[in-house]
Amino acid sequence: MSKRLQGLWLLLVAFTVFQTTLSLDFKYYSYNEMYATVRNITSGCKEISRVYTIGKTVQGRDLVVVEFSDNPGKHEILEPEFKYVGNMHGNEVIGKELLLHLVNEICTTYKRNSTIMNLVRNTRIHILITMNPDGFMAAKEGMCVGVTGRPNANGFDLNRNFPDPFYSRTYPIQPETEAIMKWLKAYPFVLSANLHGGAIVANYPYDNYRNGKGTSGFYAKSPDDTFYRHISTVYAEHNARMRSGTACSGDNFPGGITNGAHWYSLAGGMQDYNYRYTNCFEITLELSCCKYPSNTTLKTFWDENKESLIAYMQQVHSGVKGLVTKNNVTLENAVVRVTKIDKTVNTTKDGEYWRLLPPGRYEMSVENCVKMVTVRKGQVARLDFELAQCSTNGVVTLAKGSAPFSLGTILVTVYRLLL
Ligand SMILES: [Zn+2]
Repeated sequence: MSKRLQGLWLLLVAFTVFQTTLSLDFKYYSYNEMYATVRNITSGCKEISRVYTIGKTVQGRDLVVVEFSDNPGKHEILEPEFKYVGNMHGNEVIGKELLLHLVNEICTTYKRNSTIMNLVRNTRIHILITMNPDGFMAAKEGMCVGVTGRPNANGFDLNRNFPDPFYSRTYPIQPETEAIMKWLKAYPFVLSANLHGGAIVANYPYDNYRNGKGTSGFYAKSPDDTFYRHISTVYAEHNARMRSGTACSGDNFPGGITNGAHWYSLAGGMQDYNYRYTNCFEITLELSCCKYPSNTTLKTFWDENKESLIAYMQQVHSGVKGLVTKNNVTLENAVVRVTKIDKTVNTTKDGEYWRLLPPGRYEMSVENCVKMVTVRKGQVARLDFELAQCSTNGVVTLAKGSAPFSLGTILVTVYRLLL
C-alpha cells in the first residue's frame, strides 16, 4: 500500500472508531426514545447483550434491564453479577443518561478496549437505566430542586419504600420496589450502585439510624464499613469534582464520600435493603448538584463519571469467592462467615459464594470448617469449603471461637496465637 493510501485508510479507521463511540447524542431521552435507543445500540453487540424486563411501573411502563456478559442470559459458575440502577428518583436524571451512555460504551468498545472486554468476559453486568420512568416523564428539565417527578406515579418515594428493620411501614410496597426485590432474588448479585442527584458524593450504608429520624451527624457504621469506604473512594477518586468533596454549595464530604446516616438518616432505603437482606453490597451515588440540569451539561457529566463507573464495576472482583460442598455435592444456602465481621453471605443454588473484602488476612468459616485466606489488592482470592473433609479429619467441634483440630485448623490456631 502506498503511503498516501495507508494514510487514507488510517483516517477512515479513525473516523469509524470516532463514529461508533460518539454516535449517541448527549440529550435527555424520553422513555420511548430510551427503549428504542437501547434496542438499537444492543443490536450492534448481540453476542454480549440481552435486554429483559423485571416488571412494570404504576403507569404500565416496562422496567428495562440491559445485560452484558460473554454468555448473555446465563449465570456462569463463580462469575459475579453486578448491577447499576438509575433514576430511582424520577427528577434526578443524570444517572439515567450516564447509564445509557455506559451501555453504548460497553457495546461499541468491548472488542478493542481490553478493560471492557475483561469486564464483560468475567462479569455479568445488569443495567436498569431508569427505575422510575413514570416520575421521569413528570419531571421538568431545568428544575434543579424540588420534588416534581421524584416519587412514583402513586406519590411514593421509592427510596423510602423498602423493608427496614427499624421501621414498621404503614404504606404499601410499590410495583417498582417489588420488581427490585424480586430481581434481587432471581440473580446472585454481589455489588451494585444506585444513581441519584442533588449533591456530588458517594454515600454508603447505613442510611438508617434507628427509625430514620436519627439526628444527622451520627455515623451508622455497618460491619463492612472499611470495604464500603474503599469502594466509595474508588468511585470518588476518578471524579475530580466528587473527590473535592465541596462541589455543590453546602457540600462538605472529605474525600467525596459519606456514611449515609452521618449525612442524613432515612428509613426504607434501597442500599440498606440490599446489604441487610441479600448478599449484594450497594452504595448510592449522588452525581449532580442540580437534579435536572440543562442537557448541554451531559457531555461533561459523562466525561467526569465514565472512568468511575468502570472502575466501580471492577470492584466486584474483590475479596474471596468459592464453592461450598459436602461429599462433592454443592450446598445451597450455606452460611459463610468472616471472623470479626458481623455480616454473613449465603451460598447460591450452585453452592457459590462471593465475599467482598478489602485487602488483608481473614479467617473464614462455613459450619465447622475454618480457613485462613489472604486478599490481595485488585485480586479475588479463591477459597472452597468441602465440609465432609473438615469432619473426616478427626475434627472435633469446639466452643464458639475455637478452631477444630485438623492440620489446617491447628495452623489457624498457631497463626491466631502469633497475632
Ligand atoms: Zn435521590
